[in-house]
Amino acid sequence: MKIVILGPPGAGKGTYASRLTKILGIPHISTGDMVRDEIRRQTDLGRKIKEYSDRGALVPDEIIIRLLAERLKREDCKRGFILDGFPRTIGQAEALDKISGVDLVINLNVPDDVIIARLSNRLICSKCGAIYNALTLKPKKEGICDRCGGKLYRREDDRPEVIQERLKVYRRQTEPLIEYYAKRGLLRNVSCNDIMTPPEVMVEKIMKVIREVEREKNL
Ligand code: ADP
Ligand code: ZN
Repeated sequence: MKIVILGPPGAGKGTYASRLTKILGIPHISTGDMVRDEIRRQTDLGRKIKEYSDRGALVPDEIIIRLLAERLKREDCKRGFILDGFPRTIGQAEALDKISGVDLVINLNVPDDVIIARLSNRLICSKCGAIYNALTLKPKKEGICDRCGGKLYRREDDRPEVIQERLKVYRRQTEPLIEYYAKRGLLRNVSCNDIMTPPEVMVEKIMKVIREVEREKNL
Protein backbone atom coordinates (compact mmCIF):
# COMPACT_ATOMS: atom_id res chain seq x y z
CA MET A 1 0.00 0.00 0.00
CA LYS A 2 1.23 3.52 -0.83
CA ILE A 3 0.66 5.58 2.28
CA VAL A 4 1.26 9.28 2.99
CA ILE A 5 1.32 10.53 6.58
CA LEU A 6 0.31 14.17 6.69
CA GLY A 7 0.36 16.52 9.64
CA PRO A 8 2.08 19.53 11.19
CA PRO A 9 5.66 19.33 12.45
CA GLY A 10 5.66 17.43 15.72
CA ALA A 11 2.44 15.59 14.93
CA GLY A 12 4.30 12.30 15.35
CA LYS A 13 4.68 11.36 11.68
CA GLY A 14 8.18 9.95 12.13
CA THR A 15 7.44 8.27 15.46
CA TYR A 16 4.41 6.41 14.08
CA ALA A 17 5.90 5.70 10.64
CA SER A 18 8.97 4.07 12.20
CA ARG A 19 6.62 1.65 13.99
CA LEU A 20 4.25 1.11 11.05
CA THR A 21 7.13 0.11 8.77
CA LYS A 22 7.82 -2.91 11.00
CA ILE A 23 4.19 -3.99 11.13
CA LEU A 24 3.58 -3.58 7.40
CA GLY A 25 6.98 -4.60 6.01
CA ILE A 26 7.17 -1.65 3.61
CA PRO A 27 9.83 1.09 3.82
CA HIS A 28 9.49 4.26 5.87
CA ILE A 29 10.70 7.15 3.73
CA SER A 30 11.30 10.41 5.56
CA THR A 31 12.41 13.33 3.39
CA GLY A 32 13.43 15.15 6.58
CA ASP A 33 15.84 12.29 7.40
CA MET A 34 17.10 12.35 3.82
CA VAL A 35 17.73 16.10 4.09
CA ARG A 36 19.55 15.74 7.43
CA ASP A 37 21.61 12.88 6.00
CA GLU A 38 22.79 15.01 3.05
CA ILE A 39 23.69 17.79 5.48
CA ARG A 40 25.60 15.46 7.81
CA ARG A 41 27.55 13.94 4.94
CA GLN A 42 28.36 17.46 3.69
CA THR A 43 27.54 16.59 0.09
CA ASP A 44 27.20 19.39 -2.49
CA LEU A 45 23.46 19.05 -2.15
CA GLY A 46 23.71 19.04 1.65
CA ARG A 47 25.53 22.38 1.61
CA LYS A 48 22.86 23.84 -0.65
CA ILE A 49 19.89 22.74 1.47
CA LYS A 50 21.27 23.34 4.97
CA GLU A 51 20.31 27.02 5.00
CA TYR A 52 16.66 26.21 4.24
CA SER A 53 16.41 23.47 6.81
CA ASP A 54 18.13 25.44 9.60
CA ARG A 55 15.67 28.33 9.34
CA GLY A 56 12.60 26.11 9.06
CA ALA A 57 11.95 26.88 5.38
CA LEU A 58 11.11 24.23 2.81
CA VAL A 59 13.80 22.95 0.48
CA PRO A 60 12.82 23.94 -3.11
CA ASP A 61 10.39 21.52 -4.79
CA GLU A 62 12.68 20.58 -7.68
CA ILE A 63 15.43 19.41 -5.31
CA ILE A 64 13.22 17.43 -2.95
CA ILE A 65 11.16 15.90 -5.76
CA ARG A 66 14.35 14.68 -7.47
CA LEU A 67 15.58 13.13 -4.20
CA LEU A 68 12.29 11.37 -3.57
CA ALA A 69 11.84 10.15 -7.15
CA GLU A 70 15.27 8.48 -6.94
CA ARG A 71 14.36 6.82 -3.66
CA LEU A 72 11.02 5.47 -4.96
CA LYS A 73 12.78 3.75 -7.88
CA ARG A 74 14.50 1.33 -5.50
CA GLU A 75 13.40 -2.29 -5.37
CA ASP A 76 12.07 -2.13 -1.79
CA CYS A 77 9.30 0.29 -2.83
CA LYS A 78 7.65 -2.17 -5.23
CA ARG A 79 5.13 -3.35 -2.62
CA GLY A 80 4.41 0.13 -1.29
CA PHE A 81 5.84 2.66 1.14
CA ILE A 82 5.09 5.04 3.99
CA LEU A 83 5.93 8.66 3.17
CA ASP A 84 6.69 10.93 6.11
CA GLY A 85 7.22 14.63 5.35
CA PHE A 86 6.41 14.38 1.66
CA PRO A 87 4.46 15.88 -0.07
CA ARG A 88 4.56 19.27 1.62
CA THR A 89 3.33 21.47 -1.24
CA ILE A 90 0.70 21.09 -3.96
CA GLY A 91 3.55 20.94 -6.49
CA GLN A 92 5.04 17.96 -4.66
CA ALA A 93 1.65 16.24 -4.46
CA GLU A 94 1.17 16.63 -8.22
CA ALA A 95 4.65 15.23 -8.81
CA LEU A 96 3.90 12.25 -6.57
CA ASP A 97 0.69 11.55 -8.51
CA LYS A 98 2.79 11.32 -11.65
CA ILE A 99 5.60 9.26 -10.15
CA SER A 100 3.60 6.60 -8.33
CA GLY A 101 0.14 7.59 -7.06
CA VAL A 102 -1.16 7.21 -3.50
CA ASP A 103 -3.64 4.75 -1.91
CA LEU A 104 -4.21 6.41 1.47
CA VAL A 105 -3.41 9.67 3.23
CA ILE A 106 -3.50 9.65 7.02
CA ASN A 107 -3.99 13.18 8.33
CA LEU A 108 -2.82 13.60 11.92
CA ASN A 109 -4.87 16.23 13.76
CA VAL A 110 -2.90 17.68 16.64
CA PRO A 111 -3.52 20.96 18.51
CA ASP A 112 -0.78 23.63 18.54
CA ASP A 113 -0.02 23.37 22.27
CA VAL A 114 0.74 19.66 21.91
CA ILE A 115 2.98 20.34 18.92
CA ILE A 116 5.00 22.99 20.70
CA ALA A 117 5.41 20.88 23.84
CA ARG A 118 6.51 17.92 21.71
CA LEU A 119 9.04 19.73 19.55
CA SER A 120 10.66 21.71 22.31
CA ASN A 121 11.32 18.48 24.22
CA ARG A 122 12.25 16.25 21.30
CA LEU A 123 15.48 14.25 21.39
CA ILE A 124 16.97 12.32 18.47
CA CYS A 125 19.55 9.54 18.46
CA SER A 126 22.67 10.66 16.59
CA LYS A 127 23.38 7.07 15.50
CA CYS A 128 20.08 5.40 14.55
CA GLY A 129 17.64 8.34 14.33
CA ALA A 130 15.24 6.99 16.99
CA ILE A 131 12.97 9.69 18.41
CA TYR A 132 12.54 10.36 22.14
CA ASN A 133 10.90 13.06 24.22
CA ALA A 134 12.24 14.50 27.45
CA LEU A 135 8.65 14.74 28.81
CA THR A 136 6.66 11.90 27.37
CA LEU A 137 8.96 9.33 25.81
CA LYS A 138 12.06 9.29 27.97
CA PRO A 139 15.03 7.04 27.26
CA LYS A 140 15.89 4.63 30.07
CA LYS A 141 19.21 6.37 30.59
CA GLU A 142 19.30 10.16 30.23
CA GLY A 143 20.87 11.31 26.96
CA ILE A 144 21.44 7.77 25.67
CA CYS A 145 19.49 5.77 23.06
CA ASP A 146 17.77 2.62 24.41
CA ARG A 147 18.20 0.81 21.12
CA CYS A 148 21.80 1.45 20.13
CA GLY A 149 23.54 3.37 22.92
CA GLY A 150 23.98 6.42 20.66
CA LYS A 151 24.05 9.95 22.07
CA LEU A 152 20.77 11.91 21.94
CA TYR A 153 20.71 15.48 20.58
CA ARG A 154 18.22 18.27 19.91
CA ARG A 155 17.54 19.17 16.31
CA GLU A 156 18.83 22.54 15.07
CA ASP A 157 15.31 23.43 13.89
CA ASP A 158 13.60 22.51 17.19
CA ARG A 159 14.46 25.90 18.74
CA PRO A 160 11.37 27.98 19.71
CA GLU A 161 11.77 30.69 17.01
CA VAL A 162 12.24 28.07 14.31
CA ILE A 163 9.28 26.01 15.56
CA GLN A 164 7.02 29.06 15.06
CA GLU A 165 8.38 29.50 11.54
CA ARG A 166 7.82 25.81 10.69
CA LEU A 167 4.22 26.04 11.90
CA LYS A 168 3.67 29.08 9.69
CA VAL A 169 5.18 27.30 6.71
CA TYR A 170 2.96 24.30 7.43
CA ARG A 171 -0.23 26.41 7.54
CA ARG A 172 0.64 28.25 4.35
CA GLN A 173 2.15 25.56 2.15
CA THR A 174 1.20 22.13 3.45
CA GLU A 175 -2.28 22.47 4.95
CA PRO A 176 -3.88 22.95 1.48
CA LEU A 177 -2.97 19.30 0.85
CA ILE A 178 -5.75 18.24 3.22
CA GLU A 179 -8.32 19.52 0.75
CA TYR A 180 -6.31 18.23 -2.23
CA TYR A 181 -6.50 14.66 -0.92
CA ALA A 182 -9.99 14.92 0.58
CA LYS A 183 -11.32 15.85 -2.87
CA ARG A 184 -9.75 12.70 -4.27
CA GLY A 185 -11.35 10.57 -1.55
CA LEU A 186 -7.98 9.50 -0.14
CA LEU A 187 -7.94 11.34 3.20
CA ARG A 188 -8.56 9.77 6.61
CA ASN A 189 -8.28 11.78 9.83
CA VAL A 190 -6.71 10.47 13.02
CA SER A 191 -6.65 12.75 16.08
CA CYS A 192 -4.32 13.05 19.02
CA ASN A 193 -5.43 15.67 21.53
CA ASP A 194 -3.46 14.61 24.54
CA ILE A 195 0.31 14.87 24.70
CA MET A 196 0.48 11.85 27.01
CA THR A 197 -1.21 9.47 24.54
CA PRO A 198 1.40 6.72 24.01
CA PRO A 199 2.59 6.05 20.45
CA GLU A 200 1.24 2.47 20.59
CA VAL A 201 -2.32 3.78 20.99
CA MET A 202 -1.94 6.06 17.98
CA VAL A 203 -0.34 3.31 15.90
CA GLU A 204 -3.28 1.06 16.72
CA LYS A 205 -5.74 3.75 15.56
CA ILE A 206 -3.79 4.21 12.34
CA MET A 207 -3.57 0.43 11.72
CA LYS A 208 -7.35 0.20 12.03
CA VAL A 209 -7.73 2.76 9.25
CA ILE A 210 -5.13 1.00 7.08
CA ARG A 211 -6.89 -2.37 7.45
CA GLU A 212 -10.25 -0.77 6.57
CA VAL A 213 -8.86 0.79 3.41
CA GLU A 214 -7.11 -2.48 2.47
CA ARG A 215 -10.46 -4.22 2.63
CA GLU A 216 -12.32 -1.47 0.77
CA LYS A 217 -9.82 -1.34 -2.07
CA ASN A 218 -8.82 -5.01 -2.10
CA LEU A 219 -5.15 -4.16 -1.67
P1 ADP B 1 9.17 18.21 10.76
O1 ADP B 1 9.51 17.66 12.08
O2 ADP B 1 9.03 19.70 10.74
O3 ADP B 1 8.04 17.49 10.08
P2 ADP B 1 11.13 17.04 8.90
O4 ADP B 1 12.13 16.24 9.64
O5 ADP B 1 10.10 16.33 8.10
O6 ADP B 1 10.49 18.08 9.90
O7 ADP B 1 11.90 18.06 7.92
C1 ADP B 1 12.94 18.91 8.36
C2 ADP B 1 13.27 19.95 7.29
O8 ADP B 1 13.68 19.29 6.06
C3 ADP B 1 12.10 20.82 6.85
O9 ADP B 1 11.91 21.92 7.70
C4 ADP B 1 12.54 21.24 5.44
O10 ADP B 1 13.51 22.24 5.46
C5 ADP B 1 13.18 19.98 4.92
N1 ADP B 1 12.18 19.10 4.22
C6 ADP B 1 11.80 17.85 4.60
N2 ADP B 1 10.87 17.36 3.75
C7 ADP B 1 10.65 18.33 2.83
C8 ADP B 1 9.78 18.45 1.69
N3 ADP B 1 8.95 17.45 1.34
N4 ADP B 1 9.84 19.60 0.97
C9 ADP B 1 10.65 20.60 1.32
N5 ADP B 1 11.48 20.57 2.38
C10 ADP B 1 11.49 19.44 3.13
ZN1 ZN C 1 19.95 4.90 18.58
